[in-house]
Amino acid sequence: MLDPVAWLDVPQEVSTGTLPGWDRVDEIVQEAHARYVSERGGRVADYIPVLAEVDPELFGLAVIEVGGGLHDAGDALHPFSIQSISKMFVYALAIQEHGHEKVRDIVGVNNTGLAFNSVIAMELNGGHPMNPMVNAGAIATTALMPGATAVEQWERVREGLSAFAGRPLSLDGVVYASEAETNDRNRALGRLLRSYGRLDGDPDEIVDVYTRQCALNVTAHDLAVMGATLADGGVNPVTGERVVSADVCRDTLAVVASSGLYERSGDWLFEIGLPAKSGVAGGIVAVAPGKGAAAGFSPRLDDAGNSVRSQMAIGHLSRSLGLNLFASAPARENVSGHGVRSQEQETR
Ligand code: GLN
Repeated sequence: MLDPVAWLDVPQEVSTGTLPGWDRVDEIVQEAHARYVSERGGRVADYIPVLAEVDPELFGLAVIEVGGGLHDAGDALHPFSIQSISKMFVYALAIQEHGHEKVRDIVGVNNTGLAFNSVIAMELNGGHPMNPMVNAGAIATTALMPGATAVEQWERVREGLSAFAGRPLSLDGVVYASEAETNDRNRALGRLLRSYGRLDGDPDEIVDVYTRQCALNVTAHDLAVMGATLADGGVNPVTGERVVSADVCRDTLAVVASSGLYERSGDWLFEIGLPAKSGVAGGIVAVAPGKGAAAGFSPRLDDAGNSVRSQMAIGHLSRSLGLNLFASAPARENVSGHGVRSQEQETR
């Protein structure tokens, strides 16, 4: 369970519309890393055998600002597999390709309330995958990637996620092989999707593309650049490349807010107030629209599969950088100048 006590003593700043200056952001990023570095809660994922071999002490944190400011702390440049975090970026590519309505119809936008790899969720909902952030919906989303063959679809995924990251991402062959040998459950989901008419093509080939996309290597720094692209109306703030449209960013972040942390998405939104996506290798990226993104990497997970230290560190950043989308202060008490009423308005 997400423990809000971890950052309750950190004052809740409200948004002034922009981040504080680079020096202040950097100070807060270093502070958040230092504060949780000795936290030992959670367990490393082992259902994908090779993930169990990772060093559990690794801990990286990164913030990328839409203005291009970069902040790294700890193991922010250590590579790990993106896993489920790929789902949000492939979803963005799918909406870019097919539009809001079609993807909404096929994949859905509502939380299942169940685990990320649930089969029951689909059965309970008449064969609908419900949303793209759980495995069933993500497999249905990957199937929407353009390409005449699975190889072409995989290339499209790799190129698209690389554009988000601003550098060519490569496959971790060991993680891919380990998951490909053990992913019977995802293959079952692929078959079930097909049986309900929600997936065209060979389900095993689509699940193979999905397994590859999950095995792309990233760092916390990469994840923050990828998230910052969604915070920046679809333009990568580091490379300046337009990756997707601003409408696609809005649609993607809305779904990520409702289901990015699986059945714990409500807890997360209540405590931290940002759209965020987690993966079982220990990454989490949270997006503050118009400001930037924060990403954490730490392999020990809670029982829903969300990195414990990454949640804590991002919770800290959300409070101290004024990122929570739901936090406000009365405009007439705002001393920073934003939203202060004019004398004329005041006397009405
Ligand atoms: N590749 C993993 C799976 O499909 C991703 C799950 C996750 O990161 N939660 O099971």
